[in-house]
Amino acid sequence: MGWIKIGVFVLGVLLGSMLNSFISWWPQEQTGSGPQAVCPHCGYAWQGLEKISLWGLLFSRGRCQYCGDRVPLRYILVELFTGILFVLAFTRGKGPVDLIRLLVFVLLLVPLFFIDLKHHRLPNILTLPGIGLGLLLSAGLGQIKSAIIGALTGGGLLFIVALVTRGGLGMGDAKLQAMVGAFLGLRAMLISLTIGVLLGGVVGLLLLALQVKGRKDMIPYGPFLITGALLVSLVIVTG
Ligand SMILES: [Zn+2]
Repeated sequence: MGWIKIGVFVLGVLLGSMLNSFISWWPQEQTGSGPQAVCPHCGYAWQGLEKISLWGLLFSRGRCQYCGDRVPLRYILVELFTGILFVLAFTRGKGPVDLIRLLVFVLLLVPLFFIDLKHHRLPNILTLPGIGLGLLLSAGLGQIKSAIIGALTGGGLLFIVALVTRGGLGMGDAKLQAMVGAFLGLRAMLISLTIGVLLGGVVGLLLLALQVKGRKDMIPYGPFLITGALLVSLVIVTG
């Protein structure tokens, strides 16, 4: 797989462990203390390599050194996904600015995915700076026009849907899709939106059919939109 790719994977895992601290910490911004790598069971502040859940999984059976409770699966998934997505971005990026664009996109989408699953919210603290960063990096690639149109179209479309459905889809989803447009431009944003909507429909129907969720349960849409955006930017060849 090559030493550089292993290095990129490790970098993704390390940053993923920081994303874990952020995901656990949000929405406690008002407490004054920043995100910290602490055990969700006992509150013990993990030190050094203990902060890397994958390391803990390999060398201390995935348990907190202090209380011995199991580190939640989410911690391991976040690190693993960030590492894998970083390798995909590295393979996919065309030049340094494009690579930075993809890496920053991953670092925004991973926490948005897990926070929306947990809280049914897509924090402004990520989406709003994300729109700005997406426009900036697209400008660096000479694609500012498509990025602005993409952001306005993505945000505008879902803003209208949010108004019409009154709660089925939130304003957070509109800001997320504006961010996706800012990073990917109009065409890729529209493809990612189509994939996200289809995925959401299929999974929603499955969850209803299997009676995992009832008709009145709220299923957050962000994770589907994010999956669409990741597939289009890192996996599917859209030409
Ligand atoms: Zn603990």
